[in-house]
Amino acid sequence: MAATTTRQPSILAQVSAVPPQRVNSTAEVPTSKPHHPKRWHIPRLLFKVKDVSHEGAIKYFNTTNTQKLLHDAVIGVLETLYTHETAPTTQRSITLILQSMDGIAYTTGSELDNDHKEIYFSLDYICQLPDDRTQNEILGVIRHEMVHCWQYDACGAAPGGLIEGISDFVRMKAGLGPPHWTRKGDRWDAGYEATAYFLDYLCSRFGNDTVKRINLAMKHSEYTPELWMTISGGIPVEKLWDDYKTAFNLHPIPKPEPGDGEKEKEGYAAVAKEEAAAPPPSKIEAKPPQSVEKPLPIPPTPIATHASGMRLPRSPGSGDVWPFAADTPAAHIMLDRLKNMRFEGTSDATRYLLEFEALIDRLQPEMSDTDRRLLLCTSFHGSIMVDWYEKSCRAVTYPQLKEAMQEAFRNY
Ligand SMILES: [Zn+2]
Repeated sequence: MAATTTRQPSILAQVSAVPPQRVNSTAEVPTSKPHHPKRWHIPRLLFKVKDVSHEGAIKYFNTTNTQKLLHDAVIGVLETLYTHETAPTTQRSITLILQSMDGIAYTTGSELDNDHKEIYFSLDYICQLPDDRTQNEILGVIRHEMVHCWQYDACGAAPGGLIEGISDFVRMKAGLGPPHWTRKGDRWDAGYEATAYFLDYLCSRFGNDTVKRINLAMKHSEYTPELWMTISGGIPVEKLWDDYKTAFNLHPIPKPEPGDGEKEKEGYAAVAKEEAAAPPPSKIEAKPPQSVEKPLPIPPTPIATHASGMRLPRSPGSGDVWPFAADTPAAHIMLDRLKNMRFEGTSDATRYLLEFEALIDRLQPEMSDTDRRLLLCTSFHGSIMVDWYEKSCRAVTYPQLKEAMQEAFRNY
């Protein structure tokens, strides 16, 4: 079982609409009062250890700051799944309980009240973690469980794989995925990292807020496959999954029949023709495995359909169509180059940005700043960039992002 396998909570968050903001009636607030940035609602955070002398507890205390662990997890989940306007505020407490038990972790409402959440985490599991993985694995498991304290579940009707996939998506976006995670091509709702990578792909295609939209769509409504049509502008989940597998070369490779060389060549030629617009997948997957997320490819939209104009140029959000300057070999080479660009914070940003913009200007000069920013962000890799982006660059425009990059990474 994957290290992140958790038991499905019996009841997930049943949070209601955000109540109207409380007004402090006793205070005469002067109009000149400085504007304070919005703050997230943080419930009371509690901690229990059932056996402090357990080896796992000792390991936990040697590696973990519980206050920071829980606080960062709450903020990370809220930032990934909500905005200040949509974040639930009914959670009253979240308790982390370390105890000896089978499995890894699970989350549930408390016996008395579902607004009080309890995360159970196995000391036996912590005990057997390798030393160099202990800290990150604790952070990652708690981030996953914290999602269950806050996410919507379509009135209990959401597929379990989607619930678990969203949890691991949040973990992945925090840079807390374990090194053994890989893209898998069995089913979109296989859950955990298999679904998380798929969701990440959807974000690259339909906008960074795609998982936020999926979660919110499950606030009051029962789950139906229509959800995916709404999210993608009319594409069923089976097609999205197929596109994802094509983009990352996850389709099973047919074994050639022995002595059938000619037929084989024809077959490959036919496939090559059909998939002319899809990125040559080997180029994406041939790179050495990264400790952080892998790059996201440009959506594999066939060039031939671009002329039909499914999306107006300069429309906001991530394009589900990506017109080329022309369907030429040069355009394919440039597209390939753009897709494989990665910035790890160890080289000069100005030089990198020059190439990035030069390629976009050749391929789609009218691309909006929103899309440029999204594309640039998907080329960030490695822990330096994850840390930098988390700390300094969450909500800036494309020109601001460029400037911040140039400031932070210059003259290598
Ligand atoms: Zn889970």
